[in-house]
Amino acid sequence: MKWVYIEDISKYVGMEVELRGWLHNKRSSGGIRFLLIRDGTGVIQGVASKKDTEKESFSLIDDLNQEASIVVKGKVREEKRSPIGFELTINSIQVIQNKEGYPISPKSHGVDFLLQNRHLWVRSSKQWAILRIRAEVIKAVEDYLWNKGFLRMDAPIFTPSACEGTTTLFGVDYFGESTYLSQSGQLYNEATCMGFGRVYCFGPSFRAEKSKTRRHLTEFWQLEPEMAYAHLEDVMELAEGMVGYTVNRVLKKRESELNTLERDTKLFLSIKTPFPQIRYEEAVRRVNELGESMELGEDFGAPQETVLSGSFNTPFMITHFPESVKAFYMRKESLNSDSTLSFDMLAPEGYGEIIGGGEREFDRKELEKNIKSRNLPMDAFKWYLDLRKFGSVPHAGFGLGIERMVAWICGIKHIRETIPFPRMLGRVYP
Ligand code: ATP
Ligand code: MG
Repeated sequence: MKWVYIEDISKYVGMEVELRGWLHNKRSSGGIRFLLIRDGTGVIQGVASKKDTEKESFSLIDDLNQEASIVVKGKVREEKRSPIGFELTINSIQVIQNKEGYPISPKSHGVDFLLQNRHLWVRSSKQWAILRIRAEVIKAVEDYLWNKGFLRMDAPIFTPSACEGTTTLFGVDYFGESTYLSQSGQLYNEATCMGFGRVYCFGPSFRAEKSKTRRHLTEFWQLEPEMAYAHLEDVMELAEGMVGYTVNRVLKKRESELNTLERDTKLFLSIKTPFPQIRYEEAVRRVNELGESMELGEDFGAPQETVLSGSFNTPFMITHFPESVKAFYMRKESLNSDSTLSFDMLAPEGYGEIIGGGEREFDRKELEKNIKSRNLPMDAFKWYLDLRKFGSVPHAGFGLGIERMVAWICGIKHIRETIPFPRMLGRVYP
């Protein structure tokens, strides 16, 4: 008999198949037993009865516990009332393992308990839906860049220098030398993009974020494209194209997961590129108008981002941040200006920043000036300055935080559920 997956079940109507999975839930009604079977690709209801099911199999159903691992053979039927449109008439069940006391029952649990049991929690339907959407988002953004001719060039995780100050860095002893876990692959992307034209890196970024917000993890996954000869407008266009493509793709391919999450997808349908753009000064003015105070020259904090992005129905971009809130490598709008050629993309509905990027300073003298004025160690940037010595060209790029993007698409409040094993202030288990 053929072993098949639930996600492919529509191809097997009328046929006998074998499913290998786990018992998600069960109930009985008279002489009939209804088993919700999940196999990682979906959930199907199996129906067992004295008439259709082998006697021995039928008799063991009442002792099956939630999450018992089972191999079920049966016949696939169309069933209009089923959420997936199909059911299985069960012939036989083989029990691989069966134990009572699975800690996560269908009743509700506190979030600390659930995080402590994250290794089991990932099996629950809502978590399953979120993580399936995460996988789709990752594949979508990579496909998008690949189709635009970008090559994946991985950046190192151990990095020798503290590029932007040490306050949010995790130090690691590297055979007696002090190194840090990478906060971003950007500087390395700037090197590889001069070798390959269009590159991106994708990997974990580490930041010792000491504030507890619903938007910050200490380990998150960042996708960072970098493009030689590109200017601010070019990478803004790339970013909005990528976000638009990804949202559409999730809508098409992960509809049932979005339904499981009860995500209202109406707003997604009206998302069109180009996204609205406002300059930094205008954004500050609006934030104050919306009732959160902030001064020109300051960065947007969580409350400011929340009100501003709550006033939009579509992703939008804030451009030309002042030098004071951006890193040393951001290129200025003009020599005497203190505005930079930078942008952030914010997701609507209060979600806030999902992307940060801009044009990099490619003039060696200017870059050296920035490094000095910020008291950064010039030595550490020797190789980086080399890039401005040999064949330096305008270039630009951005970083997208996968977890923030997934949280917005899924419509969930806290990003801790958007990664299989979240790392946060006060949590490194399991
Ligand atoms: P924030 O101001 O929200 O802390 P940032 O401006 O420091 O973020 P960038 O350095 O611009 O972040 O990083 C690029 C992207 O990486 C952000 O737009 C965001 O999506 C994501 N990101 C940054 N820090 C975190 C974090 N601690 N947890 C999850 N995602 C993050
Ligand atoms: Mg940013």
